[in-house]
Amino acid sequence: MTYDDTNIFARIIRGELPCHKVWEDASTLAFLDIMPMTRGHTLVLPKARATSIYDVSGDDLQATIAIVRRIAMAAKSAFAADGVTIQQFNEAASGQSVFHLHFHILPRWTDVP
Ligand code: 5GP
Repeated sequence: MTYDDTNIFARIIRGELPCHKVWEDASTLAFLDIMPMTRGHTLVLPKARATSIYDVSGDDLQATIAIVRRIAMAAKSAFAADGVTIQQFNEAASGQSVFHLHFHILPRWTDVP
């Protein structure tokens, strides 16, 4: 799949659209999901042009996954979560709807389905 520079996350990265920013550094960005599945639902993405896990560089993936871990631990603490689910989809058949690689961080609580 060819990367589409007009996808919604590319526009957020360029600052053309707003977001509730949780983390930003030279290679990664994290912000709250607009339709949260749980409290604290956060998306973490590389700034590099990658549609999915298939076309991201090793360096960008490494930088992104380090921030995934950091945000997962911060979200667990901030939201007093009992656990954290991490999700990542590749291609429409898997459930991907925005075609810029991203990881979902979902704080979870015991007995909350
Ligand atoms: P996917 O199914 O591609 O893994 O998930 C895309 C996610 O992006 C969804 O959870 C959706 O709610 C979120 N999303 C879509 N558009 C926007 C937006 O404009 N801003 C933010 N913050 N999240 C978005």
